[in-house]
Amino acid sequence: MNAPPHDHVAPENGGILSLLKRTWWTGRQYDAMCMTPQRLRRGQEERLRHLIDIARARSPYYREKFRDVPPGCTDLTQFPVTTKADMMAHFDDVVTDPAVTREGVEQFISDTRNVSRSFLGKYCVAHTSGSQGQPTLIVQDQLVLDLLFAFQMTRGNPAFRGLKRFTQIVRNVFNPTRVAVLISQQGFFPSAWVWQRLPKYMHCYMRFLFLPANDPDLVAKLNDFRPMVVTATPTTLDLLSLKIDQLRFPDLRQAVTWSETLTEPARRRISEAFQVPVMDNYAMGECIFLTNGCATATGAHINADCVIVEVVDDQNRPVPHGQLGHKVLITNLANTVQPFIRYEIGDRLVMATEPCRCGNHLPRIEKLLGRAADFFWVNTAAGFRPLTAYPFQHAFDYLREIREWQAEQVERNRLLVRLEPVPATTPDLKKARHRLEERLAITGMQADLDIEFQTVSHLATDAHTAKFRRMISRVGIPDDLDPSLKEVASDFALFQA
Ligand SMILES: [Zn+2]
Repeated sequence: MNAPPHDHVAPENGGILSLLKRTWWTGRQYDAMCMTPQRLRRGQEERLRHLIDIARARSPYYREKFRDVPPGCTDLTQFPVTTKADMMAHFDDVVTDPAVTREGVEQFISDTRNVSRSFLGKYCVAHTSGSQGQPTLIVQDQLVLDLLFAFQMTRGNPAFRGLKRFTQIVRNVFNPTRVAVLISQQGFFPSAWVWQRLPKYMHCYMRFLFLPANDPDLVAKLNDFRPMVVTATPTTLDLLSLKIDQLRFPDLRQAVTWSETLTEPARRRISEAFQVPVMDNYAMGECIFLTNGCATATGAHINADCVIVEVVDDQNRPVPHGQLGHKVLITNLANTVQPFIRYEIGDRLVMATEPCRCGNHLPRIEKLLGRAADFFWVNTAAGFRPLTAYPFQHAFDYLREIREWQAEQVERNRLLVRLEPVPATTPDLKKARHRLEERLAITGMQADLDIEFQTVSHLATDAHTAKFRRMISRVGIPDDLDPSLKEVASDFALFQA
């Protein structure tokens, strides 16, 4: 049960032969963008068969779960779905290497000095943003990371198109692409941690500048570096675009966003400010290479040679392209250590019905709803600004003694944060406040807000909608909102729906 031959990456030993082999392998990742749907499906099926074989042979959880599915079957709709709660409850039985245990992984990630080390000497580990109060642990091979960077260089790079791509590789050796990476969180969050796993050979083709998004000298450092690519969360880029008059980016070719939902108004603002296409990568810790953004259309193209995305309704029945699904089921074909097979993700997607003008044949997600998209309008010195759920989520999701949180905007600039502790624990409110203030400092809104903290034994769902809401506003959208921000407010209405 070896990996399908096309997944083999030359070992990285620093030698010239290894560099050439890896460069060749990276360049080949371009091919899937030009494949016919039939050829793409064949590759998908080959990898799926391999993944299911491994899961059945080495994962007690999947062996039991797939007991009633006939051997050799690769029709995914015949397989039961796995939720995040199942995955975490049966973690030790899900993984295909018995040396990997939940306890071992938790211990490993509790020490942030391990962020650049391999777990058990070979695995890459991370945890997701736990929107349900508990983060998911992820264990994978370096292959997953290699694919992420190779896709970014080829599929996520509008300069790497057609025959131009061969000259681009040569040109990059003499004039490496300068990539500025603005990090808004540290630790084992995928968006921060993946950079620790950058394959060394990439440094032949690219130069990197890593900066915390709240660096006081951000503008000067960026201007010195003269980035060709700038990559950050949409919120960070949106804020940076406000300083466009001070920024000198003569060589900038593209902006890449990740980790949060990029709304259409935000894309337009960023793209107009920087005068470059914005490529929005939609992904999650469970499949970090899921998509690459598109330079000509909204949404992102799914890297369907290595992942299967099913858009389904609430009964897990397929939803046709062009219609909004209730959730998605992800099958990551590259992770054989911790298989994610029909793994449920709560995001709501619409798949595009037409071939994309950019020429990439891979299926495109046209619209993405969901994620922590609610926000509060806060009055700052610079006028009304939206405060998203992310600072709260990033601050509280990894405080182990906090099971759930809720933020209520009681007055325009006054918030009440309620924290529900894990039973039999007492949350450290001082620490929670400190974490939140750190996150709010990045948004530049910390000084404008007056925040009160409360510990409650149980946070209940909304009596009207029966849904749990983390962001509740008692004041809503300001009446005297600047007309240029009105479309952001209409986004808000969209996400409220
Ligand atoms: Zn496209």
